[in-house]
Amino acid sequence: MLAATLAASAPADAQVKPRFNAFSPTTASTLYPLRVLAPGVFLVAGDTGKGVEGRPNAGFIVSSDGLLVVGGLASPAQGEAVLRTIRTQSAQRVRWFVLYAHHPDMQFGAITMKRAGASIVAHPDANVLAAEGGPDQMVADWDQVVGLQEMLGFEFANVPDHPVTGSDTLVLGKRRVVVWHPGNGHSPGDLMLWLPDDGILFSGDVLVEDGVTMVIDGSSRELLDVLAAIEQLHPKMIVPGHGRIASNPQALIDSTRSYLTALRAAMQAAVEGGVPMRRALTSLPPADETRPVSLHSRLRRNANRVYVEMEREFMGLGVDQDSTR
Ligand SMILES: [Zn+2]
Repeated sequence: MLAATLAASAPADAQVKPRFNAFSPTTASTLYPLRVLAPGVFLVAGDTGKGVEGRPNAGFIVSSDGLLVVGGLASPAQGEAVLRTIRTQSAQRVRWFVLYAHHPDMQFGAITMKRAGASIVAHPDANVLAAEGGPDQMVADWDQVVGLQEMLGFEFANVPDHPVTGSDTLVLGKRRVVVWHPGNGHSPGDLMLWLPDDGILFSGDVLVEDGVTMVIDGSSRELLDVLAAIEQLHPKMIVPGHGRIASNPQALIDSTRSYLTALRAAMQAAVEGGVPMRRALTSLPPADETRPVSLHSRLRRNANRVYVEMEREFMGLGVDQDSTR
């Protein structure tokens, strides 16, 4: 009653906003939806219907050599729920955990897999904007997103036991599993998982449901090259970092490419026309203050980044990761 009364009398522009819960809550008994993608290959589905803001997709591969788990796990609680979900299918030991990227939503549950015995397979470059304030700040910021309860038992576990900076093929039973760093498209530490015998690509956030991949830690130019490389694989199925599996993988590649190409052209025209960044971004909807990865926030943050990228290209400076981020 009280809450209802308060809500009814609160002014429309009330300063205190409730926390935006991007992810569905995870408890000590949560099991996530499971889907068989191929014999021994499973999707542990993230939130559907929440687009790119939902809990990330994870996956695992069962083999006689043990289990390989691939992110993303956004908290220890999510890591445990993924493990609980895995245990409905297999009691095998977890041998590898493949980390998609050093972003909190992809790495903050990695400790669960490490404690379960996994070797962490990761790219060693952990340089992302979210980490700029230092590790403590990164964790504090993330508490606000997933809630303290889901962060209990947190420790960083993103330092690779098994570093991959190019590509590396593991053989699990009879299945080949390629761990692949496709370049600095989405972030410098991106890894993807390619199953050549099944035609399945676990792309991480290099591809997301709506085609608006974040490039604030990466490069739109490199992401275009990454898309071309993915296209060459002719994947039959792409499991994106967030959101539903693309029914048509090529359509997801195409929509991502169209978005980037149009953004690059618009920002290039602005730079060449001497239009300041602020004005170049006026046609975009405002970012959502409390939702850093909402569609509007991604559109604006990417535009910002790509404007700087085009400015550097215009001045012939090339891409300097550190000073452009
Ligand atoms: Zn993500």
